[in-house]
Amino acid sequence: MRRITLINGDGIGPEISDAVIKIIDASGLKIDWDIQTAGADIIETEGTPLPERVLNSIKENKIALKAPVTTPIGKGFRSVNVKLRKELDLYANLRPCKNLVNVKTKFDNVDIVVVRENTEDLYAGIERQVDVDTAESIKLITRKASERICKFAFDYAVQNSRSEVCVVTKANIMKLSDGLFLDSFRNVSQNYPQIKKREILVDNLCMQLVQNPAQFDVLVLPNLYGDIVSDLCAGLIGGLGVARGANIGENYAVFEPVHGSAPDIKGLNKANPTALLLSAVEMLKYIGEREYAENIENALYKTFKNGCFTSDLGGNLGTNEFCQKIIENL
Ligand code: ATP
Repeated sequence: MRRITLINGDGIGPEISDAVIKIIDASGLKIDWDIQTAGADIIETEGTPLPERVLNSIKENKIALKAPVTTPIGKGFRSVNVKLRKELDLYANLRPCKNLVNVKTKFDNVDIVVVRENTEDLYAGIERQVDVDTAESIKLITRKASERICKFAFDYAVQNSRSEVCVVTKANIMKLSDGLFLDSFRNVSQNYPQIKKREILVDNLCMQLVQNPAQFDVLVLPNLYGDIVSDLCAGLIGGLGVARGANIGENYAVFEPVHGSAPDIKGLNKANPTALLLSAVEMLKYIGEREYAENIENALYKTFKNGCFTSDLGGNLGTNEFCQKIIENL
């Protein structure tokens, strides 16, 4: 039996994790879940939101499914998500945003893959308080990380029969840092003559995305723009409740939804488990369990087709009832 780390998170994390485990179990696929708690709830008992045992578990199992873990705004512990990505060198954040069967949205034909650099940029955490009234954050961009993520985007395009990779920067203003990212893209792109290349500034991209998103294929972005643009793209396909994601490195892969821990709806049986479920579907495909992945995905689409939705998608089902409907459709 395949052993997989499950970080069940905090906020809505535990409720959507329960739903997803039940659905996978009902599909007939046997997984030995290595459940690891992390986040705000364990700081008091373990002194850290990300104990070594969590990292060791992923190192041993190579694959993890991760529910959201809170990142408090302002002072406090460093983000578990950022630390996890850095420690395991999960340099590529992959967020496919495709219209879901039977979910009505503003635009048809949205099929965008956001490839976000995951290890540096303003997320490097190099900040200092210059004086009481001044603070600085360093935007760190290196050629090594930029070329690596651009290569990942082009390889993804080749392997998944995509036709174009578009690089997103603000290189007209941040001539050195974003300029280096753009230059790395241009270098790497020369090895992929079969893929079309496009360059766009991030502000223009945002306007184009809300007017005509179908024109975009694979996007590759530095960390911060990637974070913001992937939420925008999630909105195009039905919101955060349905947007799947994965963090991939040379040795390990951690699959997680785009959304955060949504503390405002914690424990209310309101959370949509779809984003975590679709992240799990990607994980099953990644480990070669394609048939189970497709069965689960089809059961989800059938559930939507029958008009069954959680409240974020305009329906009236709670997390548990929605999960039950998917299980019935398996
Ligand atoms: P983070 O900084 O951790 O990414 P965030 O501030 O972007 O978090 P989220 O927790 O992702 O915020 O959620 C924003 C809002 O979207 C939530 O307050 C919640 O109302 C809604 N939301 C997010 N995920 C879901 C979900 N799975 N089901 C239903 N609503 C959700």
